[in-house]
Amino acid sequence: MSLLSFIDKLDDQCIRYVIILLLWADYIWETYLSIRQFGVAKSTVQIPHQLKDVMKNDEYEKARNYSIAKLKFGFVKQFHSIIINTVVIHQGILAEIWRFTEGINPFMDEVSTSCIWLVLLQLMTTLLDLPFTIYYNFVLEEAFGFNKQTAGFFVWDKIKQFLVLQIITTMVASIVIVVVKNGGDFFFIYLWAIVGVLTLVLLTIYPAVIAPLFDKYNRLAEGELKSDIEALAASLKFPLTDLYVVEGSKRSSHSNAYFYGLFKSKRIVLFDTLLAKDDGSGCDNDEILAVLSHELGHWSRNHNIKNLVIGQVNLFLLFTVFGVTFKYPKLYTALGFYRSKPVLVGLFVVLQYVMMPYNTVLSFLMTVLSRKFEFEADDFAVQQNKGVALERSLLKLNKDNSGFPVHDWLYSVWHFSHPPLLQRIEALRESVKKFESKEK
Ligand SMILES: [Zn+2]
Repeated sequence: MSLLSFIDKLDDQCIRYVIILLLWADYIWETYLSIRQFGVAKSTVQIPHQLKDVMKNDEYEKARNYSIAKLKFGFVKQFHSIIINTVVIHQGILAEIWRFTEGINPFMDEVSTSCIWLVLLQLMTTLLDLPFTIYYNFVLEEAFGFNKQTAGFFVWDKIKQFLVLQIITTMVASIVIVVVKNGGDFFFIYLWAIVGVLTLVLLTIYPAVIAPLFDKYNRLAEGELKSDIEALAASLKFPLTDLYVVEGSKRSSHSNAYFYGLFKSKRIVLFDTLLAKDDGSGCDNDEILAVLSHELGHWSRNHNIKNLVIGQVNLFLLFTVFGVTFKYPKLYTALGFYRSKPVLVGLFVVLQYVMMPYNTVLSFLMTVLSRKFEFEADDFAVQQNKGVALERSLLKLNKDNSGFPVHDWLYSVWHFSHPPLLQRIEALRESVKKFESKEK
């Protein structure tokens, strides 16, 4: 019995309950993991012995309280969102909003109705999330000294985010609908090719055009740090064309660095929070160079390209499944769409719900792969003789970000795209030892 003929036997109500069941299974699993981590954070009152020399008691206590506060926030937010999602699916809210949109749309065609529908949905989501976003930034992060946003910055930032998101999603959605409607039997191949090109275009223009709308990017001032970074890039044949410092400190004081750009034109961006400051936070030049060596390790080992290829293969698979299943009427009636079968709704149901078990497994595997890449990039930094400085910078950044260093194993295996601090330092010390004995 094929999957479709099996689904055929289920009535609309039943499919609706299967979707709700999937949502709750996911919610219960995530909450179970968070409860495990919560227990670890509550009970581990002593600093782990490996960190006794590098973390002070009050720093550890702050990190512990910060992680407990974030977990508690997560419990409330996740509960809120599972309730909203359950109501939306159970009551057929998406279809209600679709009918409302059809009523106010003078053009009546599917592309314009879909665009207005999307904007309305995103408006609702933004408003429903707003109290949580405000609480997170202005109460939680504020209490631990991480929030740097003023109310004015926050409001303007949110409005800009909303507008930019609308422009991008309505543009992509319109293209998708037109291709699905006019692409014939093999529309999913065209869809994949076009979305692949769009992804590349967005990746290219995002840092140059979109990100500067939100944060200020300044060229790194001439000086020792700049010439050191240029020398490092040159020694690795990294095609560095520009060096920026982004004023991340207006947003929050969590720190980072990254590079971007296609082919022979790459730019490195340092968060200003990474740079040494008067209050003792931030890293010295050696440590910044070590952090960059790690980033260049990602480049040297082609991690970005590997991720992009996996992303494209995955997209092809998802669109193929969509191409095979999207005409099936019960995907629509399950959500309350009885008269029309909008392309976007089919896409949403297939990608979000039909593929949910697959998505969960894939996202777990990608997390595992990402940790492997992090170890590789660390090892690359060690090979540039930056291992010791990298360890110092990791400890410093962890301290500046109040990272809590103790984790439930299952929670961290499932969630962490970066290896936990202690594991990372252990591996780092191991490869430094190997590197030094090789050098001798
Ligand atoms: Zn990394």
